[in-house]
Amino acid sequence: MKKALVCGAGGFIAGHLVKKLKSEGYWVRGVDIKEHEFSPSQADEFQLLDLRKAENCLSALTLPEGAFDEVYQLAADMGGMGFIHSAECEIMRNSALINIHMTHYAWKLGVPRYFFSSSVCVYRDMLPGEPEMTEAEAIPANPDNEYGWEKLYAERIAQAYERNRGMKVRIARFQNCYGPEGTWTGGREKAPAALCRKVAEIEDGGAIEVWGDGTAIRSYTYVDDMIDGIFMLMHSDLQGAVNIGSPQYVSVDELAETIAEVSGKNFTFKHVEGPVGVQSRNFSNVRIYSIGWKSRYDLKDGISLTYPWVEQQVKQDRLTEID
Ligand code: NAD
Repeated sequence: MKKALVCGAGGFIAGHLVKKLKSEGYWVRGVDIKEHEFSPSQADEFQLLDLRKAENCLSALTLPEGAFDEVYQLAADMGGMGFIHSAECEIMRNSALINIHMTHYAWKLGVPRYFFSSSVCVYRDMLPGEPEMTEAEAIPANPDNEYGWEKLYAERIAQAYERNRGMKVRIARFQNCYGPEGTWTGGREKAPAALCRKVAEIEDGGAIEVWGDGTAIRSYTYVDDMIDGIFMLMHSDLQGAVNIGSPQYVSVDELAETIAEVSGKNFTFKHVEGPVGVQSRNFSNVRIYSIGWKSRYDLKDGISLTYPWVEQQVKQDRLTEID
């Protein structure tokens, strides 16, 4: 039985990844600084550890015998644009410490295969309609936020350990990922969950606030697609960074309209000042397509699975407040 360590298993994507690895027959240890917020972890073992500390990385990676076959490093101090723009020091310090120690001790303890979750935030801002950017075009680098710079640095740490220490490293650059069991409130939520929450909260005929002018272009990847991509990439021969994302690019207003359609509610948008990030994104998926990955969910499919879950959280929250 293969053994996997999943870092950040108390979070959204890694929580889903644990389920996938269990369904593939792995023995899984999850590790995070907090428990999973929405469902008990399905990991065989779950350790509560602060991975900014070297000794905790060592402890998470230690088995009674032998080494983990695979390590998936998804732990990060992370959130949507609101968080990224206000927590630059936390991101630069906390996520960098996690990545420095995890990569080093994974190699030291003889882990043969290491996955790192990077982000398309490593790329520069783009103009709408610019040709797709390939992975190599992230350099020369000019990310618009510190989160992107930290990810680039962490990619390079992992690649240095592959080149100089022989640990196989697989790096995915995720597009925006959304789905059930993702952060939906509290300041760290990303646009799809935040908009689902706002729609779930308003009465028919009301208005929801949308940050910016609604024209920023993004693609949104449903979490099951992302998990398939992670698993396929980890077991492929693809070295270097690999973009994973839905090829469906939409404006923020189109995202909000899709949520409106799924919810069946009538409301208007009010564009307000807020952190938006880059104007446009458009990335090549040629590398991930080369190993047979394809996104299975279009935006409406994914929102149809996500909105009811967020709506349920909003209802439960209101009941708790009344209690
Ligand atoms: P998430 O915040 O739900 O998960 C990250 C987890 O890391 C959290 O559970 C958090 O508690 C944990 N963590 C933070 N600091 C820690 C510490 N010191 N010790 C141990 N655990 C710690 O975020 P997510 O959306 O599931 O993202 C997972 C990974 O994917 C992250 O590395 C993120 O940067 C990357 N990513 C996500 C997206 C997205 O759209 N969600 C896009 C690009 C990249």
